[in-house]
Amino acid sequence: MLVVTGATGQLGRLVVRHLLQRVPADQIAVLVRDPARAAHPAAHGAEIRTADHDIPDSLSGAFSAGDRVLLISGNEFGRRLAQHTAVISAARTAGVGLLAYTGILGGAATRFVADDHHATEKAIEDSGLPYTFLRNGWYTENYTGQLPGVLASGAVIGTADPDSRIATATRDDYAEAAAAVLAGEDHENTTYELSGDTAWSLREYAAEISRQSGTQVVYQQLAVDDYRKNLADAGLPEAMLSVFTDTEDAIARGELAGTSGDLSRLIGHPTTPLAATITAALNA
Ligand code: NDP
Repeated sequence: MLVVTGATGQLGRLVVRHLLQRVPADQIAVLVRDPARAAHPAAHGAEIRTADHDIPDSLSGAFSAGDRVLLISGNEFGRRLAQHTAVISAARTAGVGLLAYTGILGGAATRFVADDHHATEKAIEDSGLPYTFLRNGWYTENYTGQLPGVLASGAVIGTADPDSRIATATRDDYAEAAAAVLAGEDHENTTYELSGDTAWSLREYAAEISRQSGTQVVYQQLAVDDYRKNLADAGLPEAMLSVFTDTEDAIARGELAGTSGDLSRLIGHPTTPLAATITAALNA
């Protein structure tokens, strides 16, 4: 079976949709903590398995020998490494045939985001299981999801230099790559550095929003303290402020700008251009 964890999340839902286009539904299982939210895969005939990664006992029986498993990284800083470790342990006990993991684009050294990914990859290597590391770059939606506020204020804000570049792709591009690996062959013990085909600068991003929306938007480079205050005023929890500033530092260092071409090669077509994702967000 092809098993997708986090299948009720934004990325996981898209992975399941792509898998349904590639293999019969009876070869797909989703591992979710709330089966009531897995109506789509259930309606298509996928198997629903239930486990909470915070409760290691719930993972016994989650996998079978030979399963090809996609572990989608968790979203809770401070807890997700333990969650990943519990999944890896259950996968090892079951003797799965492949453990694919969604990490972060190689070289990214952000303390808050990358450390958990690097530690998880190490735990997977130590497990001895065949693995595929899907090192995802930034989602374009991390930016376009903020468009209403950006249009209202006329500014994209950050601390990175306006000419810092980021090679984003859409969630759907990354999801398609994960499905291609899970349903494909010869991906064992391979690391893919996944990112958009074209890196864009923050200045270019603001200019493209202005061009498409007709509203003048600029990129505003802020001092770290001002940036944190801005995020806090917008309601971001204190715990996330360092995650955002750390990420800005990584962007400034060019760590999310790599364009290896791995993603478009895996999905068999170019990644979704920034302009198209902006158009979709403006029309949403
Ligand atoms: P989501 O937050 O939408 O999905 C996270 C998934 O993890 C959800 O399905 C959630 O389950 C599941 N999950 C969390 N905790 C547990 C648990 N204890 N037991 C079982 N399942 C759990 O994130 P996305 O789908 O957008 O992104 C996937 C991952 O990619 C994120 O979790 C994060 O690690 C990373 N990420 C990457 C970004 C990038 O730009 N590359 C940006 C943001 C995140 P449930 O559906 O029940 O809530």
